[in-house]
Amino acid sequence: MGAGVIGYAVAYEMAARGAHVRIVDPRGHGEGATRASAGILAPYIEGHSDALLQLGIASLNQYDNFLARLAADARLDLEYRRTGTLQIALDQDEVRELEAQAGRLARAQVDHSLVSTSDIARLEPGVASDARAGLLVPQHGYVGVSSLMTTLVAAGARRGVTPVVTNVEAVAATAGRVTVTTTDGDVTCDAVIIAAGSWSGGIATAGPPAPVRPVRGQLVQLHASPGALQRVVWGSACYLVPWTNGTVLVGATVEDVGFNERVTQKAVRSLRASGERLAPKLRMATFVEARAGLRPATVDELPIIGPSSTMRGVFYATGHYRNGVLLAPWTASVVADLVLTGTRGEGLDLVRPDRFGL
Ligand SMILES: Cc1cc2nc3c(=O)[nH]c(=O)nc-3n(C[C@H](O)[C@H](O)[C@H](O)COP(=O)(O)OP(=O)(O)OC[C@H]3O[C@@H](n4cnc5c(N)ncnc54)[C@H](O)[C@@H]3O)c2cc1C
Repeated sequence: MGAGVIGYAVAYEMAARGAHVRIVDPRGHGEGATRASAGILAPYIEGHSDALLQLGIASLNQYDNFLARLAADARLDLEYRRTGTLQIALDQDEVRELEAQAGRLARAQVDHSLVSTSDIARLEPGVASDARAGLLVPQHGYVGVSSLMTTLVAAGARRGVTPVVTNVEAVAATAGRVTVTTTDGDVTCDAVIIAAGSWSGGIATAGPPAPVRPVRGQLVQLHASPGALQRVVWGSACYLVPWTNGTVLVGATVEDVGFNERVTQKAVRSLRASGERLAPKLRMATFVEARAGLRPATVDELPIIGPSSTMRGVFYATGHYRNGVLLAPWTASVVADLVLTGTRGEGLDLVRPDRFGL
């Protein structure tokens, strides 16, 4: 249930292993948080806890293989580059933060380099000339999420994933089967995976609702000259994701506004200003569009993945908050292992649904 990046990755993986899969979403596919996502793959920046870092590294390590399989099944190319991230410090406090982060990476023996102003000018001539220091993490990268979704849908179709456009209202498990109540009638199946992102708590079950809350993020898409930036550039007020065709994504806001998916002028202005502060040449870039999405957040900022402890055949794959694109390959493989063979993959204990009584 839910045809965002998580639901589709799980559906594809299960179908590729021989399951008969239907994917249900009232809005088609990729219209939730996934549509707004910047697609950055950066566990060493976003891994705010040991657990999240562990899952992020595991998923990043699966990315090459996952996308190669998808692209081969879909017969499509997608935008995916592992050109690294360059975090920028614009003042002395930010320099100290980068140095502390570099120390942590050094202790963990992670490849990185702390670079000077002159190195930044050489690596990224588009970045502000008053940048004080930079932290380069070469194994990071990004995937173009629109091309990822197109590829997932095409690869899923080749593997027999059937999309169903309707709303799931309730799920009930009885006598080894699961009944899904949709707006258009009931469907019975062996297993369901609740992957409705921020809306997961709205699906009625015999247990408590999934404790996932929406956190709005807004992002601006610009068009600059191709090659204006070489890699993901990360500042304290925004990040920049340069695609090969000259697209630059500037993200993102973090807002507690409930289920409001609207874009605001204020956020667009502020993101553009932050982007131009980080890379002044973006003043010349043209505005393409702004997007907003609701990140599915949990209180511990870890996803909820695994079996329901009370309903046989019901599984969760939700609550991926800021890292759903990064965590998609790992989520897909552990859920497919669990549902199809009962195997509990490494890391699953960190994200158990029963920590929230589910
Ligand atoms: C601005 C922004 C930038 C981001 N940048 C990054 C990034 O750089 N890297 C990264 O890894 N992550 C990033 N994220 C986070 C990432 O986008 C999310 O973690 C991810 O998209 C979550 O995917 P999902 O499939 O769980 O949810 P969603 O994409 O929200 O999909 C949930 C789906 O469930 C459907 N649904 C709702 N109710 C029902 C129902 N009752 N029945 C059936 N279906 C239902 C919805 O229509 C929707 O399509 C970003 C998010 C935002 C907003």
